[in-house]
Amino acid sequence: EGLIWLDGEMVDWREAKVHVLTHTLHYGMGCFEGVRAYETDRGAAIFRLQEHTDRLYRSAHILGMEIPFSKEELNQAQKDAVAKNNLKQAYLRPMVFFGSEGMGLRADNLKVHVMVAAWEWPAYMGEEAKTKGIRIRTSSYTRHHVNITMCKAKANGNYMNSMLALREALDSGCEEALLLDNEGYVAEGSGENIFIVRDGVLYTPELTSCLDGITRNTIFKFAADLGYQVKEKRITRDEVYVADEAFFTGTAAEVLPIRELDGRKIGTGVRGPITEQLQTMYFDQVMGKREA
Ligand code: PLP
Repeated sequence: EGLIWLDGEMVDWREAKVHVLTHTLHYGMGCFEGVRAYETDRGAAIFRLQEHTDRLYRSAHILGMEIPFSKEELNQAQKDAVAKNNLKQAYLRPMVFFGSEGMGLRADNLKVHVMVAAWEWPAYMGEEAKTKGIRIRTSSYTRHHVNITMCKAKANGNYMNSMLALREALDSGCEEALLLDNEGYVAEGSGENIFIVRDGVLYTPELTSCLDGITRNTIFKFAADLGYQVKEKRITRDEVYVADEAFFTGTAAEVLPIRELDGRKIGTGVRGPITEQLQTMYFDQVMGKREA
């Protein structure tokens, strides 16, 4: 139920359909965003809207897809998707995809379509996970990337490994997966960036093996405000095992403590103090209680 913004118009959810010959359905070339709106004192507020729109345009540009709308139009589309559906806490899914004008890999003369859907969305892994932390396992699937620059894009075809990794983790009784890169270094979760804390310093993998996360960038700012150093570097699995603290970041996961990796307790096995500090700042900011 509700309305979906499709190619410039608000259409009924049931009418927002694509053809079975939709090119992106066959070959996976396309990009999307995951955006969130929070209920604040001033009504529903979309967190980091401009950053998400900017990344969507960068993703499309990397894929050579030209979005036939301006950034302002897409910002407005996202605001409308929330407002016209009377949503308060919402997840938004803007997506850019090729139409069904032709098959094959040349993909010339294909129409670029854009849609924005939004739906009510409470906490991703439940309230308890936010305070207690989650248990994760190293995946047998590696972080898939076509090439290094794809880390700047949220591309459709990239999520097969993420889905397989998450399924594997859930089947083994964990809540999330940790994907390694092709060289065996820590990359990211199925849909989250990872940070570890060691002796008061934060470490996170470089952008060669993980998405250029907007929440990741937010943590960089918070850490600077609090006087913590953040180092981007290659991280091994062992370093996560012996870290004082570890947490995931993402629009969906927000700031989520990790209490265990591969059955090994991280730190004291509870949410660490720096994680808690950053988490509090994050919730204050998304709720509009703290200046962006
Ligand atoms: N890594 C992957 C693979 C993702 O899909 C996401 C998406 O949300 C993230 C990390 C976190 O990025 P952001 O903080 O922009 O949501």
